[in-house]
Amino acid sequence: MDIVLLGPPGAGKGTQARLLIEKLGTPQISTGEILREARKAQTEMGLKAQTYMDAGKLVPDEVVVGIISERLLKDDCKNGFILDGFPRTVPQAQALEVMLKQQSKSLDAVVNFSVDSEELTNRLSGRRTCEKCGAGYHADFSPSKQEGVCDKCGGKLIQRDDDKEDTIKKRLEVYNKQTAPLIDYYRQKGTLKDVNGLGAVEDIFNQVLRVLGLS
Ligand code: AMP
Repeated sequence: MDIVLLGPPGAGKGTQARLLIEKLGTPQISTGEILREARKAQTEMGLKAQTYMDAGKLVPDEVVVGIISERLLKDDCKNGFILDGFPRTVPQAQALEVMLKQQSKSLDAVVNFSVDSEELTNRLSGRRTCEKCGAGYHADFSPSKQEGVCDKCGGKLIQRDDDKEDTIKKRLEVYNKQTAPLIDYYRQKGTLKDVNGLGAVEDIFNQVLRVLGLS
């Protein structure tokens, strides 16, 4: 299946994507993760993206569209993909449609996670990630056994630079202005599937399976 996970930052798209990978065996493609890797490696694209990311703004469409158009051509996407964090603007959605058409494909579903902004702020400000294995924690809701240390691999837990309070506010504003219009865009196309992003991870995953017709 070719799936897009849509929702504000902190809605749980990454967590649900990881569960879907296990179920479907298709890759998760996260533009945020690709950009963070590029930053770490100090590539030209990574350095260009850095200023936008630190300010909580969107990286220009042509940069992320370029990333996705290359990535979707890889062999592992032949039997489907899970897009997490792309598209984030209407022009990105239109570019995706063109890319898929060129491969005689179209999206099977856009899963839209809704979570209110107070909950999102709480989730994002406490979010911690293992820099080694990528495991996710929350400082209050699901802390590691030893503060700052990953339970799974002993790696160091870090807070993303853009999960600091001021940047969170900006990212939520950007979402409401530039990304939320995609809800109507996909609803009109008949591909939108609504999921309540509040509650236990497994319950949300069950909703995802249900709207995708997989349970
Ligand atoms: P994320 O990990 O999805 O929250 O993305 C982190 C940051 O990467 C965002 O705040 C943006 O600056 C940038 N980014 C990720 N995906 C996109 C996208 N599709 N379009 C523009 N910027 C993006």
